[in-house]
Order: sequence, then C-alpha cells, then structure tokens
Amino acid sequence: MRPSVLLVLDLREYADPPSDEEGSRRLWAEVEPELIGRDLRPDQTITVRRPGGVIGATVLESDLGAGWTGPDTTFAVCGVLERPKLLYRCGPCADAGQVRYGPFLCSGCGSTDTRRRVCDDHVVILDLSFAKATCPAHVPACECGRTASFWCTGPGCGSGKAWCDQHRRRHPGDELISYCRGCYDRRFPDCSTGGCRSIGTLSCEFQAGAGSCRTRVCPGHAFRWQVYGPARRGLVLCPAHHQRLPSLAADELVRQVISGTLGRRRGRSRVPKLPRLSLFQHIFINVQKRLLTVPQLYDLADQVYRADRSLTALIDEHRPGWQRERTDAITAERDGQHHFARLGQELTAMGHGDMVARISFSIFKPHAGELWVRVPQDLKGRFIGTRGATINALRQRIGLQINLEKL
Ligand SMILES: [Zn+2]
Ligand SMILES: [Zn+2]
Ligand SMILES: [Zn+2]
Ligand SMILES: [Zn+2]
Ligand SMILES: [Zn+2]
Ligand SMILES: [Zn+2]
Repeated sequence: MRPSVLLVLDLREYADPPSDEEGSRRLWAEVEPELIGRDLRPDQTITVRRPGGVIGATVLESDLGAGWTGPDTTFAVCGVLERPKLLYRCGPCADAGQVRYGPFLCSGCGSTDTRRRVCDDHVVILDLSFAKATCPAHVPACECGRTASFWCTGPGCGSGKAWCDQHRRRHPGDELISYCRGCYDRRFPDCSTGGCRSIGTLSCEFQAGAGSCRTRVCPGHAFRWQVYGPARRGLVLCPAHHQRLPSLAADELVRQVISGTLGRRRGRSRVPKLPRLSLFQHIFINVQKRLLTVPQLYDLADQVYRADRSLTALIDEHRPGWQRERTDAITAERDGQHHFARLGQELTAMGHGDMVARISFSIFKPHAGELWVRVPQDLKGRFIGTRGATINALRQRIGLQINLEKL
C-alpha cells in the first residue's frame, strides 16, 4: 500500500482562493512540491509562501510511519479553511479592485443593488443627526446645482431635502441641526417690530377677519393681555393690536376675549376657560378705564353669542356660571340701592341733605360689606369730613364700609 497523508488547507491568508476545479488543481500544483521529502506528523503545519499570500497545510493523519514523504505518497485534502465571503462589499472599493466590508447602505445604490454597500472611508453622511448615507457618487445635489452639504427636515422640506452651504442656517440652540432659509424663517421668524433682531417666538392672537392676526413678535415686543387672571398666560398681542384695545367697542372687546380663547382651544390640549364676568369687569377697567356692571357684561356676551355662530358652544359652556354671577349681581344691586337710600337719609339727618342729589350709587359688594359711591370732586372734602369724621359717622350708622369710586 502506498503511504498516504490527510490534510486541511488553510487559505484564510491567501488573497485569491480558487473558485473552481481548475483553480484548485493549479493551487495544488504549487503546494505539493513543498510537501515532498518531509517527515510529516499529525498536527504539523507546513506554510507555503506564494505571491498571492500564505497557504497553510495541516496534517490530520499520516501513515508514513518512520518514513518521509516521496513521489509515491498519496495526499488527500479533506477540508479547506477560507475567509468568510463578504456579503456586503463596499461598492467604491470594489470599483478600485479592493475587497472591503461596507456597513452603510447608500440611498442611491440601494435602490438598484442592496448588496452594494459603502465602507467607513467612502461613506458620505451630510448630517450626523440625520441618518441618510450615500456613496461619493450619490451625494445629492442642491437645487442650485452645487453638491449638497446638509439635510433640512424643516416644515417646508418634510422628511428631508438636501441643500448646499449657501442655504444653510443653523438651529439657534443646536449647532448640529441646520435648516434651509425658507424652513428657518418659518420655524424661527424674525420679530415683526422694525429693527428688532430677536426671534418672533410669539404670534399675535388678536382675531382679525377669518383667523388670528399671527404677526410674529419677540417676548420683548409682545403684550400679554391677562384676560385669564394673573396666574395664566394671557393672549399675545402685537404692538398694533395692543394699541387698538382702548378704542374697541365694548362688544368687540368681549368678542376678542371669547374668540381668542376659542383659538387657543383649537391649538392645544390645555384649554383655558373664559373669564368670569367679574374678571371681565377688571379687563374693562384696565383696558378702557370704565366700569361695566355684571348684568351689562352678561348682555354684551349675549350680543356676541347672537352675532357670531362660531362662539355659541363656548359661550353656552360658561353660561350657567355667568347666570349665577348675574343673579347675584342683581340681588347685590337691589340691596346696594337700598343701602344707598339709607345713606342719603343719614346724610340728610347729619345736615348734608344738599349733597344727596349730587352723589350716586356705584356698586355694592355684599361679601366684603362695601358700598361704593360716586362723589363729585368738589364735594369729596365735605363727604369725607375733617380727618374722615363725616364718612366714619356714615359707616357707623349704616354698618358698611363706604368707598369712593375712582372712575
Ligand atoms: Zn470603500
Ligand atoms: Zn451610491
Ligand atoms: Zn445650493
Ligand atoms: Zn427646508
Ligand atoms: Zn422684538
Ligand atoms: Zn396683531
């Protein structure tokens, strides 16, 4: 029997492993001469250096005994170790005759050949924040023709559009995010006030025509109309609409508050409630320096209700509360008139009957026990008396705090 040797070939360090039988025969022709005339033992590895790389031949079994391999030795290759085949090769590297793993999928190449990938060196990523990779050939072009340098995902560019540096505006708070000019101006509009360089983060909520004014204003140039009391953010007004408040008709002012509130409800989930009628009183005092009674305000809201169909649901929601306020106010008014009549009697009894015809009732606040009266400027001194003697005597006799109305 001819001596035989069982081998495993290691081609992991060999650049161009054979892919067919002919190739294998040629490779073996280079390896076999190196294995002749040797004392081959199991586990021994012979390395063969060739221009294409290093080939290893490891002996699994040998029945040479004490002899050496010779021309009559039979070699059998029972296995070949190869580098795992690269499934995803870098396309640009392959074009240059090199084999390299490509982890990135080019959005251009990917549409025709999903196995054509891009390696770390060849990949082009325009923005770290935006995971869209390409090979150098597929770097998108800006609409002006230049090679793009960033992706914009602003409100006008949707899921992303590539732009060159000529159009780049960086996010004011995050250097890594860029927008095209159009999207930047939409997201970060300038304050509309002439000469102001700040971003118009706020938008005017004054209702003009079909919707709100929406003029962009920076916090410094915006007016917060505190129609929801001091604890909640009031309606934003641009300087022009802030200036118009004092000259608005009473029903229009009420309508502004109601439709501004409706505009807010459309925009967000935290819904503001309409002001109580007593808060409307303060709104009128602050903005127009005039005092309206609660029943007058109720009627104004009702006027708005009948004139603007879009506001009826919102008004109906608040109507029960407003009705209670109105009933209480009417009761207080009646009680107030009663107290005021007594005030006239007491004044007359104190010898000041001539003043009675010139003073008038303003409001009565039952919870505070306050009776507010209007006294002409030239009578104020007499009404109050020396060191408050007259007004204090009146307080004693009626049992109420008496206040002079400023309006
Ligand atoms: Zn590459
Ligand atoms: Zn590509
Ligand atoms: Zn461009
Ligand atoms: Zn854009
Ligand atoms: Zn401004
Ligand atoms: Zn405005």
